[in-house]
Amino acid sequence: MNIVMLGAPGAGKGTQAERISERCNLLHISTGDILRKAITEKSALGQKAKMFMDKGELVPDEVVISIIEERMSDADFRKGFILDGFPRTVAQANALKEMLGKLGRKIDAVFNVDVDDQELIKRLARRRTCNKCGKNYHLDFDPPRKEGICDVCGEKIMQREDDKEDTVRTRLAVYKRQTAPLIEYYNQEGLLHTIDGKRSIEEVFAQIKDILEVPCE
Ligand code: AMP
Repeated sequence: MNIVMLGAPGAGKGTQAERISERCNLLHISTGDILRKAITEKSALGQKAKMFMDKGELVPDEVVISIIEERMSDADFRKGFILDGFPRTVAQANALKEMLGKLGRKIDAVFNVDVDDQELIKRLARRRTCNKCGKNYHLDFDPPRKEGICDVCGEKIMQREDDKEDTVRTRLAVYKRQTAPLIEYYNQEGLLHTIDGKRSIEEVFAQIKDILEVPCE
């Protein structure tokens, strides 16, 4: 099964993608995590992406499309995947369709995790992220077991630069202008499932699990 997660920044698509990947045995591909890792490693990809990400803007289509193209050669890709943060533009969605078509694959379901702006801004202010492994926490609803430390890899968790309020406003505007049109795009394709993202993490996962056609724990 091949899944796309849509949703504004802070809607919880990353958290759900991680959960679906672990419990339903699908490959999780987060373009945001891949780009942040590239920035930490100071690679050529990181250098290309940093300026856009710091401003809360989208990295150019050709850069992210080539990341996905590369992941498609991963052996794990065959077992089914969940895309988190990609596609974010109609051009990316078209490129995805074409790349999958060449492999005889297709998207089976698109989940739009729906949360209002006020709640998104509130959530992002309380979100903390591990720079090393990319795991997200919410200081109130999903805190790490030990204060300030990532449960998975023991690194310090921090607020992402682009989760600070000014950049969040830009990211929301970018989402509305460039990514929200994908809701209608996938609706037209008959793939869209809109999920109420304001519920608890478990309740949101339960809504998704009901729709998935793969065995999940
Ligand atoms: P995320 O972790 O998904 O919120 O992504 C963080 C940032 O990475 C975004 O604000 C963009 O600057 C960049 N980014 C991630 N995925 C994409 C994408 N598919 N297209 C363009 N930029 C992206």
